[in-house]
Amino acid sequence: MLRCPVCVKKDMVVLELDRVEVDHCLACGGLWLDAGELELLVDAPDKATALATLFSDLSDTAGETARPCPICGAKMVKQATVSEPPLVIDRCPAGHGAWFDDGELQTLFSCLKCGAENRVFSLLQDMFAARIQTSIKGG
Ligand SMILES: [Zn+2]
Ligand SMILES: [Zn+2]
Repeated sequence: MLRCPVCVKKDMVVLELDRVEVDHCLACGGLWLDAGELELLVDAPDKATALATLFSDLSDTAGETARPCPICGAKMVKQATVSEPPLVIDRCPAGHGAWFDDGELQTLFSCLKCGAENRVFSLLQDMFAARIQTSIKGG
């Protein structure tokens, strides 16, 4: 069981999003995606390519707290999109994955122009709108 990098002492639960298992913190609503899982969720080669170029390292991290990677504990690197306002996520420097605060994954999907045709986007909309966790395993 992975610990939430924001709440630190809270264990995360495993959620299944369109057959991809992600870690979710019930306390803060954040999501941890292992390396490669984001591409699986996006589920479109052109959008996965767009993803690779969407983020760049944030040079000014003032006011942003460094969070530990839930897998290796290394301080994660802040990365931001060029969009306005920028979407800032945390990525493990060792490549274990990326952390999304509550709602950030939906914002990302909006940036990628994933619409209703993307099943995961629809799932996220439902999940966060209703706050009903129906597919939690374990926990
Ligand atoms: Zn949390
Ligand atoms: Zn790591």
